[in-house]
Amino acid sequence: MADSDAGHDPQTRLVTGGRREEWTGIPGQPGRVVNPAVWHASTHLYPDCAALAAGVRSNEDGKFFYGRRGAPTQWALADALTALEPGAAGTMLYPSGLAAVAFALLAVLRPGDEVLISDNGYDPTRNLGTGWLKDWGVVATYFDPLDLAGFPALIGEKTRGVLLETPGSLTMEVPDIPALAAAAKERGLAVVLDNTWASSLGLPAIAHGANLAIMALTKHVGGHSDLMLGSVTATAEYLPALRKAAQALGQVAAPDDCAMALRGLRTLGVRLERQSASALAIARWLEARGEVARVLCPMLPGSPGHEIWARDFKGGCGLFSFVLKGGDAAARARLIDALDLFGIGYSWGGYESLAIPIDPARDRSIMAWPPADMDPADRFAVRLSIGLENVDDLIADLDRGFAAMAAG
Ligand SMILES: *Cc1c(COP(=O)(O)O)cnc(C)c1O
Repeated sequence: MADSDAGHDPQTRLVTGGRREEWTGIPGQPGRVVNPAVWHASTHLYPDCAALAAGVRSNEDGKFFYGRRGAPTQWALADALTALEPGAAGTMLYPSGLAAVAFALLAVLRPGDEVLISDNGYDPTRNLGTGWLKDWGVVATYFDPLDLAGFPALIGEKTRGVLLETPGSLTMEVPDIPALAAAAKERGLAVVLDNTWASSLGLPAIAHGANLAIMALTKHVGGHSDLMLGSVTATAEYLPALRKAAQALGQVAAPDDCAMALRGLRTLGVRLERQSASALAIARWLEARGEVARVLCPMLPGSPGHEIWARDFKGGCGLFSFVLKGGDAAARARLIDALDLFGIGYSWGGYESLAIPIDPARDRSIMAWPPADMDPADRFAVRLSIGLENVDDLIADLDRGFAAMAAG
């Protein structure tokens, strides 16, 4: 339970979160089970008409009403996620991470408003700016989140929110979130932060300035590449609008997926620790390879963004990228196709390793790729999601990949 957890370390909250007595026991009976049961429910029953009428009014989690407002399985997951974010008032769940992003924006924007979106963000998120948001009468401006000095000038009369992501998808830039958030809040903007990479464990997002903190639970919290879910954890100021949008537009997460996400959450800390350690070891190994122009891994000393990562983050994860020295798409494909242990596919944060080719230039409009301090020929990049395999086996696999790349 969130309140009794207040004094505990986040690692402990991963274990205790969401396990309230009323979700793990039977009223009037001693004893309880460890995990909240999976409640499949559309209809919630009431003792009488007066209770039915009262239920409609008590619009909050933890109160029975109707399946669209969830039942104890969803409440337990939301409760456990809220407990991980100091300063949070509550969490809403969504059937995917992208739905969480969309509904965080819906909660703070209205037609006629303007929103600032990090240019290096997750591409389906970026696409909202030129697609659905535009159709809905919201003007999105893409900006370089590393340009702190230029940021205040982007905020206009109609700007209502800023959507940040750290590190940036694909290329892993680490913006100064506390500074950007402070500048945004000074002008009354809602600060929306996609915190999927580090999770609340690695970056308590609200404590670092976010009003609405998003996680694609599909990634680390699920952790086993077998579910899609998203969450938005919000401050008291923004939770009512978030709840209103989710309920009015019918956002509900399936109980089985929530139960799997809760199971994933229990081991999030150890998985992230192990995946971060392996990723760092692999990043160091890649850094020493002649075929690699640059490793984009904020956890790696000397890598872009490392200083801010070391200042703000309590942890990392297994996701990072590297840029090949010269070459072409075919050479990169030879490398990736030769890997045995790395699957080729989207998403990340599972227990198994993945590798994909990335072409950042395609998904940004104002930030240069490759960045100005790199040779323009060095632009073919690979993104790795490091899983729980033995790290030496993964390195041997990559070594095989480089050999295949060289063989032509
Ligand atoms: C994957 C991802 C999302 C979207 O999550 P889905 O569950 O796949 O919809 C959002 N933000 C980031 C940073 C992601 O990597």
